[in-house]
Amino acid sequence: MLYSVVSLVFFNLPLLSFVLKENGGFGMAFSVCVAYICATNMVFVALSVLGLVVLRFLLALFSLLNALALYFVGTYHALLTREMMGNVLRTNFNEASAFLGGHLWAYVLLGLVVGAVFWVLPLKTAPLRNKAYFFLGSGLVFALWGAIHTKQWLFFDRHAKTIGGLVAPYNYSINTARAALLSLKKTPLKRFALVPLQAQGRVVVLAIGESARRANYGIYGYNKPTTPKLQELLNHHEILALKATSCATYTTAALSCILNAKRGYENLPLFLHRQGVKVVWLSLNDGPPPMDVDWSPPLLELHRWFRQVGLDPKIIDYDEALALALPHLLARYPKDNLLVILHLKGSHGPLYVDKIPKDFAPFKPICTHNELDACQSAALINAYDNTIAYNDRVLDLAIHALHHTPRQAVLLYMSDHGESLGEHGLYLHGTPYLIAPDFQKQVPFIVYLNPAIKTSLQAKPIKPNYHQDVIFSSVLHAFGLQKSPAYNPSLDIFQ
Ligand SMILES: [Zn+2]
Repeated sequence: MLYSVVSLVFFNLPLLSFVLKENGGFGMAFSVCVAYICATNMVFVALSVLGLVVLRFLLALFSLLNALALYFVGTYHALLTREMMGNVLRTNFNEASAFLGGHLWAYVLLGLVVGAVFWVLPLKTAPLRNKAYFFLGSGLVFALWGAIHTKQWLFFDRHAKTIGGLVAPYNYSINTARAALLSLKKTPLKRFALVPLQAQGRVVVLAIGESARRANYGIYGYNKPTTPKLQELLNHHEILALKATSCATYTTAALSCILNAKRGYENLPLFLHRQGVKVVWLSLNDGPPPMDVDWSPPLLELHRWFRQVGLDPKIIDYDEALALALPHLLARYPKDNLLVILHLKGSHGPLYVDKIPKDFAPFKPICTHNELDACQSAALINAYDNTIAYNDRVLDLAIHALHHTPRQAVLLYMSDHGESLGEHGLYLHGTPYLIAPDFQKQVPFIVYLNPAIKTSLQAKPIKPNYHQDVIFSSVLHAFGLQKSPAYNPSLDIFQ
């Protein structure tokens, strides 16, 4: 307990000042202290089972390392994240020595003094039962405090990475372990055997939604008209509105379910690229996954291309631009089989108003700031519903583009996961899957086939509910790759 407090006061001031600077307020800073002390109590009580000498050693060692970490965080404003610790592991001495200097010696001295105090401190071994009580007590306070202050989770969710990079000693110890594990795990992806590609000039657009929950889509029975254009298409039997459940409640895991057929194997874009399909990944989200495909332009390049092909500069930051660019993309690859993956901005919170043009607001009044819990519930839901209505426009534009090409074309749309809008005090997404509400898991799955392809391909929706693994084999079938070892007929919407 003493160590927890000392460690907090001496080595975690950057964390507390970050919380205050980000308008977390003193309440939030206090919660951080409670969480930190409880968690640290638990860690060191657990470690104390290893014996007094080990505990002394660890307390002293962590004090010294904390001081070094504090020096880097304070002097270089560096976050000790997984990537940063990966860099540290790979750094050679010459590079490292460039960091030595300044007031480093003062921090080392501080670390040595605090460490020495813990080394000589007359620690007594407590009976195991007392340790267990202390461990459980700390855990209980932690859990209760978290349960009472659910609204503060939002802050942690928003700043998880920064907090993870600031909180000593966990920032460097856990992130070093993660970086080391990652470098161990990096075995090359296995490849599927190739088969002859028979289709010619086919186009598959895979639009991946972001935080789009099915419950707020008019076409799935929502009581507000959030999807008028899709409704029109549905009435004319131009699209299928199917139901799907996401495999995770956060983006990276859900994307991986959509794009992978088998663990350890190459994903859909990589595989199809090797199969000879032109693969393009377009996204206005920052950081498209670096991938060996035909074209995955970084944001600046994508913006430049949008301007080149004559899109209105006012909309080039929004998903609409991706749909409007489709005809130009088809012209860029006129004869090829083409897979276009559109990773949409969709409905990503907490700033829903940011994802759509300012003048697009069919539902009002709206919540315009990112403190979701401070918004009126109706205004928050309006802000979210506007992103769904905008998504309705985006999908309609994409379908319109495919409708008017003589090439055979298919569009598949599925969201990565859903979203909570304040139900049971939950916001955003990322709740552990087992306890996550359906709002975060139930997603739309929309299928469109253009007139040119309808004679050779039909969608046969037989299941009441699909999983994200339906995408891989369905896209393979759309390119006539049913002979591929990666193909699974039971996961094919066109089977
Ligand atoms: Zn997501």
